[in-house]
Amino acid sequence: MLPKNSLAWGRSKSCIRELAAYGAARKAAIGTDKVFDFSIGNPSVPAPPQVDEAIRALLCETDSTALHGYTPAAGLPSLRAAVAADLRARLGAPVSADGVYVCCGAAAGLAACCRGLLCPGEEALTFAPFFPEYRVFVEGAGGVLGVVPPAAGLQPDLNALERFITEKTKLLIVNTPNNPSGVVLSAESLTRLGEILRAAERRYGHTIYLVSDEPYRELVYDGALPPSVLRFYDDAILCYSFSKSLSLPGERIGYLAVSDRMAERDDVFAALAGAARASGYVNAPSLMQRVIERCLGLTSDLSVYRENRDLLYGGLQELGYDCVYPDGAFYLFVKSPEPDAKAFSERAKQFELLLVPSDDFGLEGYVRLAYCVSGEMIRRAMPAFQALAESYGLT
Ligand code: PLP
Repeated sequence: MLPKNSLAWGRSKSCIRELAAYGAARKAAIGTDKVFDFSIGNPSVPAPPQVDEAIRALLCETDSTALHGYTPAAGLPSLRAAVAADLRARLGAPVSADGVYVCCGAAAGLAACCRGLLCPGEEALTFAPFFPEYRVFVEGAGGVLGVVPPAAGLQPDLNALERFITEKTKLLIVNTPNNPSGVVLSAESLTRLGEILRAAERRYGHTIYLVSDEPYRELVYDGALPPSVLRFYDDAILCYSFSKSLSLPGERIGYLAVSDRMAERDDVFAALAGAARASGYVNAPSLMQRVIERCLGLTSDLSVYRENRDLLYGGLQELGYDCVYPDGAFYLFVKSPEPDAKAFSERAKQFELLLVPSDDFGLEGYVRLAYCVSGEMIRRAMPAFQALAESYGLT
């Protein structure tokens, strides 16, 4: 007999990947320019030139056995120190080198947090809408995922959070800027969040960890970098990835940063390292670690996403769609004109529009549009959006 969960996760496809696969087949059948594919969050702008330059230089400058050899599991000491210095300088985050664990993207970091922090049967909470893989990471660690429904404007409902926390709650996962809503947590919300978690720790007499999933940290459009969660709560871990900010999702590189202010920081760090080890993780790709060390603080040209956001949000609002204004990330969350978002997504397919229904994000009645696409495709998609809107009598 095979483990039930592993079998189910291996057999079921994420609805995002299923729609992307449908899109690939459709493009092959009718032509790429006839399909308006908003399914997947694969960055559409290239990595900055410094990334390729660093790779070329490393190949020439570095002894190849060192370049392609194992690194310490937690990452190259020089990279860990550089990441900590960058977090302190740019975000005022209380992090030092020995609290940084370099890992294979945010997915590996999140999975290590769930496995390293949750005992069987303990609960992790998150706010809807949320990245669907959280459920796999939490349940894969033997934990239970509790989902807190959102407040108005899809902001995290902090009053509801207070009601959801129980003595079983060990972990809260937040994601800012958010996939799929684009909502960015404000300093005011983070202050309140910290107060709620501290009160709950006192009430239940154990630590409640805050894991902040931030692969979209630099993708904010209407202000400076969002405030670091680590400044608002001591028992916090930052989970970061270079997949989106440097357009390197296939290279699998990111890090965990445990707050210096966490009382049990060294034990927690050891538990995260142990969880990674138990997953067969050895070290993040050696070449990429060295590239990141040379490219810290750089980003791809993210202005393209802002233009896309304005184009898509403005265009769809004009056509009568009800959209959540995204402050960050590269997703637009749109209210389905009928209660069943899957039915809406199916109807959109008739107009060659690929929109992900929101059910797997823990919230019904919306679709997600990934606007990490060309602006030209967004413009060409507008007549299809108009025809879809007309079919619902929106315009
Ligand atoms: N968290 C969120 C909110 C995401 O959207 C993604 C990827 O899309 C991840 C984590 C995983 O990212 P990575 O490529 O760094 O594993």
